[in-house]
This record gives sequence, C-alpha cells and structure tokens, in this order.
Amino acid sequence: MAVPKRRTSKMRKRKRRTHFKLAIPGMVVCDNCGEMKLAHRVCKECGHYKGREIIKEPITEEEEESTEA
Ligand SMILES: [Zn+2]
Repeated sequence: MAVPKRRTSKMRKRKRRTHFKLAIPGMVVCDNCGEMKLAHRVCKECGHYKGREIIKEPITEEEEESTEA
C-alpha cells in the first residue's frame, strides 16, 4: 500500500479544500405564485408547471413531514 512520505501541511490541506464547496441548486421564480422553486420541476408551493396545474392541492408542511419519515 502506498504511504505518504510527508505529512500534508496545514497550508497545503487548506489550499486543496478551497475547492470544496456546496453547489447551489438551480432556483427560479415560479411563474404562477412568485415563490422560489427548483428549475424544471413542479412548484412546491402551488403545484404548477409550465402554466398548468399539475398537483391539485399544494403540499402542506404537515404532509411534507409525513413523506420524509
Ligand atoms: Zn408556484
């Protein structure tokens, strides 16, 4: 097994980690309700996509919690 010859210095480690960052999901404003939603997906707030109603009843927080569990 390959073993590192030298301990990675703090500077080298920190420089490497400058590229570690969270990717921001593609958020757009909903055409129907103006809320922020994920691009190319049905709006979570009003259930609309491309000017049509896809989901009849909007997802409430209570229903959301039940689906996560
Ligand atoms: Zn919406």
